[in-house]
Amino acid sequence: MKAVYFTEPGIENLKIEDIKEPENGLKIKIIKAGLNPLDYNLIEGNIVYNVNPMPHIPGSEVLGIAMEDGNTIKKGDKVIVYNRIFDNNCDMCFSGNEHLCYNGGIWGVVTNGGYSEYVSIGEGNLFKVPENLDDNTSVSIGIGALTSYRALKRAGSSMGKKILIYGMGNTGIFTAQLAKYMGLDVYALSRKTMPYINTFKEIPNDFKADIIINPLGGELFSDSLKHIKRKGKIVTYGVLNGRFSNIDIANIYTNEIEIYGSTGGSRLDLFELLTIMGTRKFTLPVYKEYSLWDIKEALNDFKNRETGRIIFNL
Ligand SMILES: [Zn+2]
Repeated sequence: MKAVYFTEPGIENLKIEDIKEPENGLKIKIIKAGLNPLDYNLIEGNIVYNVNPMPHIPGSEVLGIAMEDGNTIKKGDKVIVYNRIFDNNCDMCFSGNEHLCYNGGIWGVVTNGGYSEYVSIGEGNLFKVPENLDDNTSVSIGIGALTSYRALKRAGSSMGKKILIYGMGNTGIFTAQLAKYMGLDVYALSRKTMPYINTFKEIPNDFKADIIINPLGGELFSDSLKHIKRKGKIVTYGVLNGRFSNIDIANIYTNEIEIYGSTGGSRLDLFELLTIMGTRKFTLPVYKEYSLWDIKEALNDFKNRETGRIIFNL
């Protein structure tokens, strides 16, 4: 089968060649794959995780068609991959937190990923997508939508709460739509205006929210503390603007503010999310679609694009 792989990091080192088809699992024919910061940074060698195996096939977000019957997945089903590897044998797995498994990691990082014609993966990592979803939205569930959904759950999102989202990237857009469906009053810090939410180019000094979702980090993280109500909850799942921030700790305890970390999501989160997405219309801007075999061109465009997803077709 044809696959994208590298033996050394760097866009220039990517190779597209015929390699042996994978075994051990249900065979899936890939029809679409997403390009996320995770994939870009992995290929460029800018990640904190250990990449395995080498040579390595990247790609952590795919949509495919099952080529054979499993127990619940049937031949011809359209499926996405739950992209966490887990051992089902530690306290995190026992408590339904497979994404935090001590012996796991991200599929496509600690294992080969999906930038290839076929993948083979156990049925525990495969989820059938609802029929009402279009393919570009479906391929974006495994990373962007799942991260958004868990962050909203961690924050105890419920009807009538006021939420402020920092940044309207792909994950921010999913967060805004999900929060709207959950009945929250949604605000976002964004240069762009969105039709269905209130956006700020600069957050007014006296604006305060019950929940803040802040994947930007850096000094914008300490800024969140100015805009959170007493007993409010702040969720972080990224550090786009930097890993460190000066925080007034007194502000946290005197106002009983809660700060939550969130990363990816569990299989239960994905199951719930697919149910929600099966009953609602989600829209996600697509910047451009490329053939997977034009991946070098796509990677070079990735940093320069204004907004929207880059999606590979096979
Ligand atoms: Zn485990």
